[in-house]
Amino acid sequence: MNGKKGFIRMTKQRKVILDILRNTKSHPTADWVYEKVKQKIPNISLGTVYRNLNILNDMGEIMELNYGSAYSRFDGNPENHYHFVCENCGRVFDLDEQVNKEIDKRIEEKTGFSVKYHRLEFYGICSECREE
Ligand code: ZN
Ligand code: MN
Repeated sequence: MNGKKGFIRMTKQRKVILDILRNTKSHPTADWVYEKVKQKIPNISLGTVYRNLNILNDMGEIMELNYGSAYSRFDGNPENHYHFVCENCGRVFDLDEQVNKEIDKRIEEKTGFSVKYHRLEFYGICSECREE
């Protein structure tokens, strides 16, 4: 999440990865990002892409969406927002829905914890898959 900008240098590799993520709405996997990066930096390795994705996430420039141990997806928009995950095609959609700040306050009041953010994911079948 945000708040850690400026501690780590923005290298050319990171800039290329960031541009790719900022220009897609597909919430891609690291493998997908790797295929795109290779078109611009042919000799880059998958490991380097993974490492830079983690660094960009630490920098607060992107958001990692963790769906269990098997795979993560990456989002070029680091601001908190909600997602819908289609259980049929696996696509992840942004939802035009305001983030509920009230719930953070309520949890803080109930627990005495300090809430930074919350994640909310909706699961079901997307409209395209429903038509099939
Ligand atoms: Zn679908
Ligand atoms: Mn998103």
